[in-house]
Amino acid sequence: MLRHARDDLQMCRKRTGMAVGYVCNQHEGRCVVCDLQCDEILPTMREVHLCDDCGLVAEGQETCVMCGTERISELAYYCSHCVALGKEADGCPRVMNKTKQQRLAVLRAAAAAPK
Ligand SMILES: [Zn+2]
Ligand SMILES: [Zn+2]
Ligand SMILES: [Zn+2]
Repeated sequence: MLRHARDDLQMCRKRTGMAVGYVCNQHEGRCVVCDLQCDEILPTMREVHLCDDCGLVAEGQETCVMCGTERISELAYYCSHCVALGKEADGCPRVMNKTKQQRLAVLRAAAAAPK
């Protein structure tokens, strides 16, 4: 059921600042750019930094860079490949695609609804 349509995803791409990005436990260990799953955080991977607009939120208000959920669990990372390709210089990688979040919200609502 889990289909990834990354071509649909729009990233923020603004210049990154000091704020680091976080991911939820579903996206833990996944590269924010290419979605590669990493079992462990390697020294060649880099922490994700966000732009000031996306990163400057009140403590406890941080959201998953990938899906926007508020239940974050880990720092977000770029995988070794994307670091080597210089993807971290592409700017803030936060996914801006609202339709995906709306779709998830609909799915969640459907799952929570009594049968
Ligand atoms: Zn990657
Ligand atoms: Zn941003
Ligand atoms: Zn997530």
